[in-house]
Amino acid sequence: MATLSIDPRLSSRTADFVSSDHRMLIDGRFVAAASGKTFPVYNPATGEVITHVPEAEAEDVNRAVTAARRAFDEGPWPRMSPSERGRVLWKIADLVEEHLEEFAELESLDNGKPFSVARVADVPLTVDMFRYMSGWATKISGKTLPLSAGYDYHSYTLREPIGVVAQIIPWNFPLLMAAWKLAPALACGCTIVLKLAEQTPLSGLRLAQILDEAGLPTGVVNVITGYGEGAGAPLAAHEMVDKVAFTGSTEVGKLIVKAAAGNLKKVTLELGGKSPVVVFPDARIDSVIQGTASAIFFNHGQCCCAGSRLYVHEKVFDEVVDGVSHVANEIKLAPGMDPSCQMGPLVSDEQYHRVVGYIESGIGEGAKVAAGGPVSGVDRGWFVRPTVLTNTNPRMKVVQEEIFGPVVCAVPFSDRETDAIIKRANDTIYGLAASVWTQNLSLAHKVARGLRAGTVWVNCHNVFDASLPFGGYKQSGWGREMGEEVLNNYLQTKAVTVAL
Ligand code: NAP
Ligand code: MG
Repeated sequence: MATLSIDPRLSSRTADFVSSDHRMLIDGRFVAAASGKTFPVYNPATGEVITHVPEAEAEDVNRAVTAARRAFDEGPWPRMSPSERGRVLWKIADLVEEHLEEFAELESLDNGKPFSVARVADVPLTVDMFRYMSGWATKISGKTLPLSAGYDYHSYTLREPIGVVAQIIPWNFPLLMAAWKLAPALACGCTIVLKLAEQTPLSGLRLAQILDEAGLPTGVVNVITGYGEGAGAPLAAHEMVDKVAFTGSTEVGKLIVKAAAGNLKKVTLELGGKSPVVVFPDARIDSVIQGTASAIFFNHGQCCCAGSRLYVHEKVFDEVVDGVSHVANEIKLAPGMDPSCQMGPLVSDEQYHRVVGYIESGIGEGAKVAAGGPVSGVDRGWFVRPTVLTNTNPRMKVVQEEIFGPVVCAVPFSDRETDAIIKRANDTIYGLAASVWTQNLSLAHKVARGLRAGTVWVNCHNVFDASLPFGGYKQSGWGREMGEEVLNNYLQTKAVTVAL
């Protein structure tokens, strides 16, 4: 029987799932770790342990990869008609949608984000991703190619699934990151071992039950829980894996590249960011204030594309900083399941200390606090107040490094010359996303071209769609998620030439 003491606002169904005996999906069966080991899962709103999940290690990874290898080499999935594969993806979307509230509860409880946000963002976007990729299953095709080498040849390309894919995801959008990875790989006919983030395994384990229910053949998707070093590293290095798709920090991304070198498996990476937000004086100030505040505070700043460097023209700098600070001060911090919650706790004790450490380091180096600061005022849970820093300089850690929390550095600019501000915006090792705010059409397009980032938003930020490719320039990654482009991550091209 479930204990509702986890959080009295949870539905009994979710509480039952949380307190159930959690198992990983390996080779079509729900199993414990071979060692029998488990590790704790925390509620970030209280810091309390809410359940335990299996701790996969090399032996479990090997079982999962072997199952995925067999499913790819011998199983029906890569050979199934595209229409049938598309139908399974559509079914997954339907089942997730049917359990929308339950998934939103799990996401809120495990990650800390507001339930109200998870039910309108994380879960619907997950559903959309599976539906959108369901359509692609039937549209993957090669080309016929005229050869200059001679007329008597018939040449064409086949777009074939890349094989067994290892997928490693972070904790900031646990269910959605699983969908970004699984849906396109499945549409392409790959088989998969997915490692969930240690901080947020619950929605992925519930999704594993749904994948099973949707009728995926045995071994096509294997879902494991474990630590980065114990499970992620052997998975990324495994000789039977053809490709690794990773989302997480740039630091671990570099380890993945090294681990993949053994068998030269293909690699795609979605890594960190330090996204600039550039506000010109002609922009609509009301929408700038709301939009740039949400650019950084959405998901507590735990977004790889969070607008964490706010460059504002000096003519409107004070007005924008006052406005964003006012929004920050009004944000209600509460547990994610509390109906009044506008911002929940950060995901973990580690993340809490990291973000507070950055705020303190900024202050130590001379930054001024326009809103928020290192003290949350909430007596338990990993809460950090939305924070606005001014008086920074380009060499400070808070300006250079990814904080991955609700902390924005606001910087005035006076240049009438657009090139100078583009240069400052590009002054980072990252290149994931950026936004530009102006009513001047020509300026907007000019800046959009100049920014070295995989996504540029104009008069908006954090707009996502399954159809839009998303990924990084520079050290923000390799390859793209979503859109038609993500198919390249999971396909390889074979050229066939026939002498006629
Ligand atoms: P992380 O430490 O890089 O972890 C990401 C994933 O990699 C987790 O599943 C982690 O396992 C695993 N991992 C850790 N060490 C590993 C290793 N040596 N080999 C294989 N796998 C390993 O990132 P995080 O600190 O959890 O998440 C925050 C970071 O992710 C931020 O820097 C953020 O920018 C980035 N991020 C990027 C995107 C994007 O789309 N570009 C999206 C979300 C997050 P554990 O859970 O056990 O650590
Ligand atoms: Mg980690």
